[in-house]
Amino acid sequence: MLDSKTGTTRPVTAPDPVELTQRLIGFETVNPPGNERACAEFLANLLDRNGFKTDLVALADDRCSVIATRKGRQAGLPLAFTGHLDVVPLGSAPWTHAPFAGAIVDDKLYGRGSSDMKSGIAAFICAALAEPEAIDAGTGLTLVLTAGEETGCAGAIALVAAGRILPAGALVVGEPTANVICVGHKGALWLRGVTRGITAHGSMPQLGDNAIYKAARAIDRLSAYAFTAEPHPALGRPTLNVGTITGGLNINSVPDRTEFGIDIRTIPGLDHAWLRDDLRRHGGPDLDLETIIDLPGIWTEADQPWVRDVARQVADISGLPERVTAATYFTDAAVLSPAMKGMPTLILGPGEPGQAHQTDEWCDTRRIHEAATIYRRIIRRWNDPATRT
Ligand SMILES: [Zn+2]
Repeated sequence: MLDSKTGTTRPVTAPDPVELTQRLIGFETVNPPGNERACAEFLANLLDRNGFKTDLVALADDRCSVIATRKGRQAGLPLAFTGHLDVVPLGSAPWTHAPFAGAIVDDKLYGRGSSDMKSGIAAFICAALAEPEAIDAGTGLTLVLTAGEETGCAGAIALVAAGRILPAGALVVGEPTANVICVGHKGALWLRGVTRGITAHGSMPQLGDNAIYKAARAIDRLSAYAFTAEPHPALGRPTLNVGTITGGLNINSVPDRTEFGIDIRTIPGLDHAWLRDDLRRHGGPDLDLETIIDLPGIWTEADQPWVRDVARQVADISGLPERVTAATYFTDAAVLSPAMKGMPTLILGPGEPGQAHQTDEWCDTRRIHEAATIYRRIIRRWNDPATRT
């Protein structure tokens, strides 16, 4: 059994991945505010007692990420896994199953974070704890558990800024894919559009300069923006959506400021700095653009040798045909993968992609066991010179 957060109990080896997922769901890491520290300390302690060197890296009070490493005896880059500790808010609809209890009904494990993505973290940690000999005989293993992913990869960005992310040979992101291999995702460029004017009494608008009218004109131009980049064969075209707008203080004044949020999803190769400049030109002279988040897309070719090997192993374990796809959402890999020096990156995890951020979020317990089996196979093959690709 898994023991307390204090770490004073007996060493644990290879816990059950479903039990560990239930335990992780019990830590309320809703972001905002996050409060990932207790969950991070619990996992660091578990890894520490099982031969990993662990570092807690603070993001804020009550918030931290974990880097856990176990070195191997061979020269060469380690395999890396990553997952985020935070979860999204519960939403306004009532839950049928208590969101932090981790109840299992008919093979479905319910709870916030069950799919996105405490099951993924539990599965790769259990796999790591089950394969100490393979790791020690090979090039080692790095686990990166981040805080603050759901609000724009803040924990991963802080780890990179602090120089804590070292090169790795390959990266597996345990985000929900129902154990189907994803080889990439779009980038995200979130911008805040700002227009400014001059306030005046609403009965004398000729004395003012209306910032809402300026925003309306700018948004109209942006909504017609045509991306010139060639569509990516799997990810398709970039997209642009204006998702928020606020302006004006009261109905009987001329508004002097308007802000709106622009969510752009990009494809690999589209330069974000160039795109921001081009949007500013298209938005007209009254528009200022401020960057909220700037995350590149990631892409690994499906015929990359390690990806092909993992695809074969997943097909063997699942009994399903080999399948490689792309994710719709962005992940910490946008930040971590370049810092790890751009090695092949896969998104592969037991959660159901359609359950992420849902009321009564669940994960199929059979997929959690399957993911742990897949991850063990990936760890063994990475660390065995005979099968290393
Ligand atoms: Zn996630």
